[in-house]
Amino acid sequence: MSPVDRRRVVALDKQRVWHPYTEMSRYRADVDPLVIVSAAGSRLRDADDREYLDANGSWWTCALGHNHPRLVAALQQQAAVLSHTALAGIAHENASELADALCAVAPDGLEHVFFSDNGSTAVEVAMKLALQYWAQNGRPQRTRFVSLADAFHGETVGVTALGGVEVFRAPFAPVLLDCAHLPSPGDPDVSVERAVEALAGELEAHGDTVAAVVLEPMVQGAAGMRTYDAEYLRRARQLCDRHDTFLVCDEVFTGYGRTGPMWASQHAGVRPDVMCTAKGFTGGMLPMAATLATERIFEGFLGAPERAFYYGHTFCGNPLGAAVAREVLRVYAEEHILERAKPKAEAIAEAFGAMRELPGVARSRALGMVGALDLAGDGGYLADAGWRVYAEARERGAYLRPLGSVVYVTPALTIPGDDLDALLAIVRDSVEAATS
Ligand code: PMP
Repeated sequence: MSPVDRRRVVALDKQRVWHPYTEMSRYRADVDPLVIVSAAGSRLRDADDREYLDANGSWWTCALGHNHPRLVAALQQQAAVLSHTALAGIAHENASELADALCAVAPDGLEHVFFSDNGSTAVEVAMKLALQYWAQNGRPQRTRFVSLADAFHGETVGVTALGGVEVFRAPFAPVLLDCAHLPSPGDPDVSVERAVEALAGELEAHGDTVAAVVLEPMVQGAAGMRTYDAEYLRRARQLCDRHDTFLVCDEVFTGYGRTGPMWASQHAGVRPDVMCTAKGFTGGMLPMAATLATERIFEGFLGAPERAFYYGHTFCGNPLGAAVAREVLRVYAEEHILERAKPKAEAIAEAFGAMRELPGVARSRALGMVGALDLAGDGGYLADAGWRVYAEARERGAYLRPLGSVVYVTPALTIPGDDLDALLAIVRDSVEAATS
């Protein structure tokens, strides 16, 4: 039995800890949280020694499972040598080698890497790069952004402007940057053609004021794992070229093989001008992120002190994160992670396809190591239906975290086949139990 005093942990938690995305009065009154003490592979273990299959990959980060031995070793070795140093005017091996290795696997044309510490900052960097680039390269009127309805790009006030999930943006709406949220091809009621027309119309009318079009390629995660056709990305690239504005691909969730290929933009053969990565970037082990940019953008910041990018987080290029992120890329190559995930992606697609027939399910979809279904009935992020499935799954030994009425799995790409089978069976049983 774990030595952790569960009751004390929960008592202090309820007294002191302000949980993310949580209405705290209800949490304090009604929620009996899981108390997790350790994790390995695709399993979490709680203070009562119960195991849970991690359906959510610990907020979509643990692409290589928990505590991958090679990542643990890389972290331990690095911690004994150099835990942190500023990156201003200092170079270190892990940052240099990681940047080079990342450019080698990134879509062509992305040549320079700016490090930060989470997905939100990776997108914030992209926004500031775009704004400053245009400001000092002859198009200062390009101060607006374009994104999709129901988009999600993170938490800072800057990126909140790009977000389209109403309940997340509403409290801050009066102070946000100008951003057009266009009809999304991820919306089941919007065709690719209509979404492309909306983008074409927006750029035709206001293209000379747009700093960048920012997209979650292939799947809008927080919107409810809404997948869309690669054709939209191809057309978005063409339209950005025609209007000479930047295409930013936010691969924070979709990168590192989550949707099949290393980057979701590869489904469409699209080269973004800026790409953001986090989450799987360190295999979920440390908070670290990167924003990659083209030569053109990099050059737009050269030549005079006032043209520099005056931006940099304290932990920018952190040696521990960089050592782990380097090892992640080696593991992907040497353990053939993408190739070996293919049959698992097929199993997810098959299981979610079959669940479409369940009476309580309105629709389902799958792409790579993402499977999702919409429960019939009340929808939206604040819907309760998903939590009933959560409770049933927890009873059965899986940790699912619904997005409102959307029940989804984003397991480790390395989840063993029998764990995945067990997880998919739990999802099915839990949906049936919660909706019958
Ligand atoms: N972009 C996307 C597409 C995301 O899904 C998320 C997080 N879910 C973020 C950005 C923000 O990442 P972080 O939580 O690390 O700030």
